[in-house]
Amino acid sequence: MKCQQCKTNLEEIKFDIGYGINVESKHCKKCGFNVTDDKKMKTALIAFKKQSAKEVRVVRIGTGLGIRFPNEVVKGLKLKKGMDVLLMPEEKGLKIICES
Ligand SMILES: [Zn+2]
Repeated sequence: MKCQQCKTNLEEIKFDIGYGINVESKHCKKCGFNVTDDKKMKTALIAFKKQSAKEVRVVRIGTGLGIRFPNEVVKGLKLKKGMDVLLMPEEKGLKIICES
């Protein structure tokens, strides 16, 4: 397979999308062009979501309640103390959105 942009032969690479999940992709060394198969990407994303779903316990923090983020989540999302996250109501709970 050749690069769509510069016609150089593409090389097979695997890139880490986090949590040790790799996606196979084709990469052009010359111009940096990447081709990723949609199915492979979807499969990897499903694996990623399953693997990254964690059960956490609600704990008391001062006079209120809170949850503790597991270390993998902290690393995966690059969470830092003092960071603001957005809590979004969802059909079955809350979505935590981190913008860095
Ligand atoms: Zn190229």
